[in-house]
Amino acid sequence: MTDCLFCKIAAGEIPADIVYQDDQMVAFKDIAPKASVHILLIPRKHIVSLAELEPGDSGLIGEMLLKTQQIAAEAGLKEGYRVIANSGDGGGQEVPHLHFHILGDVRDDNWVGF
Ligand code: AMP
Ligand code: ZN
Repeated sequence: MTDCLFCKIAAGEIPADIVYQDDQMVAFKDIAPKASVHILLIPRKHIVSLAELEPGDSGLIGEMLLKTQQIAAEAGLKEGYRVIANSGDGGGQEVPHLHFHILGDVRDDNWVGF
């Protein structure tokens, strides 16, 4: 989609601190981190949210969740990490392009901290 912030980041049209990318996905540091490590992982394909996923997206989503292992390891998260996907207004989603938040060092946070 042309007028989508995260599509523009994926296309390199808006700068971001990219930590991983391949032909299917891009991971970059959140501009307003809510934890000492806060990375967003997005598909290059414009999918609005989990609620708009189609059966054909299952492989892509599986690859993305698997890739969180490598991204977290490269970010130094030896003790674990949290993955969050806000979906729609009721889920607190602000950017309408599917993204997984990858967070480290969240032990003192509650589950709905942002
Ligand atoms: P959500 O509320 O789940 O839609 O999360 C959107 C996230 O995108 C927030 O954590 C923002 O801080 C982050 N964000 C917004 N604009 C940018 C940007 N240009 N680069 C990196 N992260 C961004
Ligand atoms: Zn998009």
